[in-house]
Amino acid sequence: MSMETLPFKTEMTKMMDIIVNSLYSNREIFLRELISNASDAIDKIRFDSITDPDLLEGESGWKIKLIVDKDAGTLTVRDNGIGMDRDAVVENLGTVARSGTREFLEKLQQTKAEDRPELIGQFGLGFYASFMVADKVTVLSRMAGDKAKGVRWESSGEGEFQVETVEKERRGTDVVLHLKEDAKDFLDEWKLRTVVRNYSDFIEHPVVMDVMRTEKIEGAEGEEAREETRVTEETLNSRQAVWLRSKSELSEQDYNEFYKHISRDFGDPAKVIHYVAEGVVEFKALLYLPRQRPFDFLNPERKNGLNLYIRRVFIMDDCTDLLPSYLRFVQGVVDAADLPLNVSRELLQQNPLVDKIQSNLTAKILSTLKAMKDGEKDKYIEFYKNFGLVLKEGVHTDWTNKEKLADLLLFESAKTEAGDFVSLAEYVEAMPEDQKEIYFLLGESRKLLEASPYLEGVRKKGYDVLFMTEPIDEWVVQGLMEYKGKRLVGVDKGELEGLEGETEKEQKEKKTEEMKDLLGFLKEKIAEVEDVRLSSRLTDSASCLVSKEGRMGAYVENILKKIGSEGEFEESPRILELNPDHPVVAALRGRYEADPKDARLEDYGRLLYEQAVLAEGSKLKDPVGFARRMNDLLVRDLT
Ligand code: ADP
Ligand code: MG
Repeated sequence: MSMETLPFKTEMTKMMDIIVNSLYSNREIFLRELISNASDAIDKIRFDSITDPDLLEGESGWKIKLIVDKDAGTLTVRDNGIGMDRDAVVENLGTVARSGTREFLEKLQQTKAEDRPELIGQFGLGFYASFMVADKVTVLSRMAGDKAKGVRWESSGEGEFQVETVEKERRGTDVVLHLKEDAKDFLDEWKLRTVVRNYSDFIEHPVVMDVMRTEKIEGAEGEEAREETRVTEETLNSRQAVWLRSKSELSEQDYNEFYKHISRDFGDPAKVIHYVAEGVVEFKALLYLPRQRPFDFLNPERKNGLNLYIRRVFIMDDCTDLLPSYLRFVQGVVDAADLPLNVSRELLQQNPLVDKIQSNLTAKILSTLKAMKDGEKDKYIEFYKNFGLVLKEGVHTDWTNKEKLADLLLFESAKTEAGDFVSLAEYVEAMPEDQKEIYFLLGESRKLLEASPYLEGVRKKGYDVLFMTEPIDEWVVQGLMEYKGKRLVGVDKGELEGLEGETEKEQKEKKTEEMKDLLGFLKEKIAEVEDVRLSSRLTDSASCLVSKEGRMGAYVENILKKIGSEGEFEESPRILELNPDHPVVAALRGRYEADPKDARLEDYGRLLYEQAVLAEGSKLKDPVGFARRMNDLLVRDLT
């Protein structure tokens, strides 16, 4: 195929502009990105060649080479990895690999300039970091197994790139950077050494460079000593696997750079967990809890999982069997001693050792989170805002760790300021002596919850109510049932007997007896509800709807309806509760006692029901009828 000029995909240009400008102060990381890509490409062919040795074409011995050409002003990063064919080059270097361009730009606009670099790596834009130091980048590549047919890609990073088919003898990729005038220091041997040591020291494959060394050669007898300059290839990185080294040798930067290498995150992690497991199962683990949430975190196709090594040999990345799914935000490496080297994804699932590793890692991660929550609450809250949603899944899926997970939960509450959180332990600790249960309420937002009639009675007692604003919370409470022996009770569910003392209970029974006929009348007329009874949870409002304990609440029910899942669940039957002390209810009672046949009774009873429907956040089934009833009432009052 001849040379073609193609435009970058939508918004690439703008993005590249931002990358080049916002990363400028830290631009040496371009080298880390290119070495990282080269290392990935080598891992790939190493893995593929296990099943297809022909791919190697006789050349093994992995190597990443930095080639400096001072005359041409170029720095080349060469690898003998898997390489790319024409399509792969266009796909990988002409578009953003992941589909997040728009999200990226949106997020970028909301992000302060100094935080921007951290965003870039997550979007798989590492390669474009080249344009921070180069005004032109040429990529020469040939895919392993593609014999002499290679591809040449070139761009100055401004709107378009060229591709053409070329001859390339050896497999792998050369990335040639035509360095900008102010980036010529990257031709300097010592500069390159420093950058490699700082950012890529742990890379497993050798990163090499030709260096000139002048040696003094002792002359033979009678001759003078002379100097000889020789070129030798030197390896710049120590190549030590970070997780195999001892903690005391490793600096924070060592840990963080390795994290950036495996995670796509340009920012530092929130926590590093590095340990050796001994005993039933032996392995080394280096795990990271990220600080920020990757933009595509909720995408079900997102790859996650740890990198698995067996006795230092890389086996696979995205190994999801090593951790329960609710810990899928954790990044890192596990190097196991006892698994067979030829283990495949399928075999891995059947291996009993994997379960042991998983429970060991889980325990370690949960205890680290606990320590973070107890010792560094602000940091934990930041983490929790990003990953709490996923962690909560564990309450339902990991019964053995249910209690530990419950300890990690945080909620806003009626007594916290907006944006502050309490843990279940703190809630229980602060409970007044007469409070027996833990109260919660689900709803769309704190604002709606604060105004909810369901809080009235609980507030009056001085009890706190946990605010739950995520639909998954419905399953969290159903999974937990209780915490430290205290039942979790929805203030919009059940009888709320915990709010009633002996006298209150007696009073309610008495009033119920007195109003028995009216309650029966309303129950008959308002067929939508299962029962009509007096409430212990209201002080200011006249009425509310409640569902039975253990049933789904209105908030989640309404969400399920909205997404069209009606029919897949059974709607919880509602009970209409009336506040006997409210003037409207008292008047209704008076009217009923005076004339149980008064036609207005049904209408007014229905209005109390309809108010309650609106208060629980649901829609009226008969809005026209509601308007008519309201209007009748207004007319009666105004005329
Ligand atoms: P990421 O590495 O996060 O995927 P990059 O922008 O760094 O994003 O690279 C984009 C893609 O280009 C890589 O995923 C890979 O498919 C391809 N690529 C980049 N460099 C190389 C290389 N040296 N050899 C083979 N493929 C490469
Ligand atoms: Mg990369």
